Amino acid sequence: MTEPLISQKIEKLTAVKGMNDVLPPDSAMVEWLESKVRLLMARYAYRNIRTPIVERTPLFVRGLGEVTDIVEKEMYCFEDRLNGDPLTLRPEATAGVVRAALEHNLLYDGGKRLYYMGPMFRHERPQKGRYRQFDQIGAEALGFGGAEVDAELILMACALWKEIGIEDVRLELNSLGQPDERLAHRQALIAHLEQHAEVLDEDAKRRLYSNPLRILDTKNPHMQSLVASAPKLLDFLGEASLSHFNTLTSILKSNGVAYTVNPRLVRGMDYYNLTVFEFTTDRLGSQGTVCAGGRYDYLFEQLGGKPASAVGWALGVDRVLELAKGAGLKDVGPRLDAYAIVTDTQALPLVLSVLQALRTAGVSVQMHASTGDTMGSMKSQFKRADSSGARFALVFGSDEVAARQVTVKPLRDASATQQTHSLDDIVEWATTLQSAA
Ligand code: ATP
Ligand code: MG
Repeated sequence: MTEPLISQKIEKLTAVKGMNDVLPPDSAMVEWLESKVRLLMARYAYRNIRTPIVERTPLFVRGLGEVTDIVEKEMYCFEDRLNGDPLTLRPEATAGVVRAALEHNLLYDGGKRLYYMGPMFRHERPQKGRYRQFDQIGAEALGFGGAEVDAELILMACALWKEIGIEDVRLELNSLGQPDERLAHRQALIAHLEQHAEVLDEDAKRRLYSNPLRILDTKNPHMQSLVASAPKLLDFLGEASLSHFNTLTSILKSNGVAYTVNPRLVRGMDYYNLTVFEFTTDRLGSQGTVCAGGRYDYLFEQLGGKPASAVGWALGVDRVLELAKGAGLKDVGPRLDAYAIVTDTQALPLVLSVLQALRTAGVSVQMHASTGDTMGSMKSQFKRADSSGARFALVFGSDEVAARQVTVKPLRDASATQQTHSLDDIVEWATTLQSAA
């Protein structure tokens, strides 16, 4: 006897924890943000780059790198099942962009300004604003050493906040100096932390010799006064580093960009030098960093290439949209122009050719779909038309179709009257619709 089909159903499958489905209307907000970013990037002469989501693990785990949270515990690593190659789902895109620049010799004729958008993967504890798969949008300026490009990137981010109606972000700046300056500071910092070893928590003890700078970023309340009294990297900077920092801040000032210098600001990845910055907000609870970036003049060398300067930032799409929603962003999905009501399945070939012509002319039309054999009553179709949000119903009733006509009924404007058009000039009606919109 055969088992009833129903018992062969597998258990209900769900998405992986921390990896979210983005559904309408939220998906429209992501598209909206992406389209704003595309236009913005074009105005600043940044061009799109698309690198793979899977990269070789050594791209992220580099021999001499300091121990970072991301590399230490957040990466999704696996082996290629055929040849055993160590592979990783990218936790960020900067390393991949630099790898691509080296692989394709992108800097042969000068610097390149690039941007990307796409998913990143980090094995974190999922919570609001912190996911295991999340979208980032990032900009990278490769091959430029001057502080004016740091400023350009920051001004571009500020322009984006304005464009999407976000006001409550603060800019925090710091300079990490150059490796020799960091080394001198690091020794002073370790000495300071060693003197107060009893205050250090487990994380700090683990990082004391591997990445002491990162200890300054601790959120542990018991360590705040220790961290506040620690030697500041800014005090260890030489003339060239200070001058880079001063050029940046003077450009920001003359552009009216407010900032605070945060001597404790460090980045999650180990390759940064000179400028680092974050845009933060109080509106998103503890996940308050919406965009972060800085200079990484040593990454090209770390990846085996000729030295090249570089600077960039990445923003978290979820956090930025959360802020934009808080600032009043509503459904930004495409507005439907028309809903096509069809009473007779016989009319479908004609109706679809009319709708095809309308859509070619730029009109958005949702077609009422049959149950397979009947189109449903006029009343139920009007209900659908109403809840679709369309501005007009296009009524292809039997009388209209017989006369090669369609009735256009306004659904939102009570003072407007319905009109009947010949199918031959309905596209003309569509052009009036476009100019009125
Ligand atoms: P955090 O301190 O919040 O962990 P981070 O220093 O790890 O941030 P970056 O690697 O600089 O963050 O990434 C840039 C931006 O990407 C962050 O400012 C944030 O907006 C976003 N982001 C980072 N991790 C996540 C995540 N797990 N989920 C959602 N967005 C994230
Ligand atoms: Mg992180």
